[in-house]
Amino acid sequence: MTAPRLEIDLRKIHHNTRSLVERLRERGIGVTGVTKATLGSSEVACAMLQAGANRLGDSRIENIEAMRRAGVDAPMSLIRSPMVSQVERVVAQADTSFNAEPEVVRRLSAAAQAAGRVHGVVLMVELGDLREGLMPGDLESAVQDTLRLPNIVLEGIGSNLACRSGVKPDARNMAELSGLANSIERTFGVRLETVSGGNSGNLGWALGESGPGRVNDLRLGEAILLGCEPLQRQPVAGLCPDAITLIAEVIETKLKPSLPWGDRGQSAFGAGAADLDRGPVVQSIVALGHQDTDPLGLGLPQGFTMLGASGDHLIISSRNRQLAVGEEVAFQLNYSALVRAMTSPFVARVIKGDDGLMR
Ligand SMILES: *Cc1c(COP(=O)(O)O)cnc(C)c1O
Repeated sequence: MTAPRLEIDLRKIHHNTRSLVERLRERGIGVTGVTKATLGSSEVACAMLQAGANRLGDSRIENIEAMRRAGVDAPMSLIRSPMVSQVERVVAQADTSFNAEPEVVRRLSAAAQAAGRVHGVVLMVELGDLREGLMPGDLESAVQDTLRLPNIVLEGIGSNLACRSGVKPDARNMAELSGLANSIERTFGVRLETVSGGNSGNLGWALGESGPGRVNDLRLGEAILLGCEPLQRQPVAGLCPDAITLIAEVIETKLKPSLPWGDRGQSAFGAGAADLDRGPVVQSIVALGHQDTDPLGLGLPQGFTMLGASGDHLIISSRNRQLAVGEEVAFQLNYSALVRAMTSPFVARVIKGDDGLMR
C-alpha cells in the first residue's frame, strides 16, 4: 500500500467521541466535534455525529465547504473569527460563527441580508490566554451591537483557553464565563442558547469537581482524534490514543558508527547529531521527514529510538530487531505531527473501519 499514509480508524474515532459525549452529558455539556485537524474529513465528521456530537466545528471555511459538498447535513460552526474577505462564504455554508470583532459581525449581517439567510453569532470572551476574544468589559457593548443587526441571531458566548499561553480552564475562569452569560441575559432580556467553554483543554475542569455552571458546550478535536488532553499531553482515560496512525516505509538498514566523522557545521534542520559514542548501531532510514510531518511529534513503536530527522529521512534504531527494507513502521502522532501530516501532499489518507458506520 502507498506510504507514507495516515490511517484513520473510524471505529476508534466513534468510540472516543461516544465516551466523551456520555461523560459530559452527565454534566449537562454537549460536544461540538472539531474537524479542522482532518481537513474537514466527511468520514470523520459522520463518525463524530453518529457517536452523539451535537454539531461540527471547523476553523476553516474551506473545510466546512468540503463537508457540505460531501453531503454532511449537520449544524456547523466556524470556530475562528471569519475573515472579512470570506463573509459571503461563511453565511452561505456555516450556520454559526465565533466572533470577537463587531466590524466582522456587521459584515456578516450585510452578507446574510444579501443572501436572504440568518446567521448565528457566538461572541468570544478573552479570559486570559490572550488569543481571541473581546475583553470582558467590552462584551456588553458588542452584545448590544449584535442584537441590533438584521439577519443575525446572538446564539451565545464562548471562550478559548489552553492554546496560545497554556492558561488552564478552572473553576475561576469558567465561573467568570457563566457570570457573564447570566449578566448578559439579565441586562438584555435574552436567552443565550450556547455557552461554549472551550476545547480539549477543558476536559480536566469539566470532568472534575466544580460543576459546569452555565457551560453547555465544549469543542473537542484533539481528545477525540488522539485520545489526549493538550495541557499535560496526557492520555484521557478510556480513549484510544491510536485512532490515527502514520505508516511509513523503511528504505535503508545498516550497521554504522554512532558518531559522525569529519569537520562539522550545522545539520540540515539545526538539531545536532549524537555526541555519545555507543559503538556501532544498526540504524534504519524511514522515508519520512519534515516535509511530511513534525518528526519531534512522533511516537515510536516500543523498543525504537529516534536518532535524527531531516527533510525526507527519519533515522531510527531498534533495540530488539533489524528492520527490513520495504517493511512498514507505524507511528503515533501528537497534534503538531498530525496537522503537518494531514496537510502534506506526500502523505496519503486511508479510512478504516467504515463498515457498519454511517451512510
Ligand atoms: C482548534 C480549536 C478547538 C479544538 O481544540 P482541541 O484542542 O483540538 O480540542 C476549539 N476551539 C477553537 C476556537 C479552536 O480553534
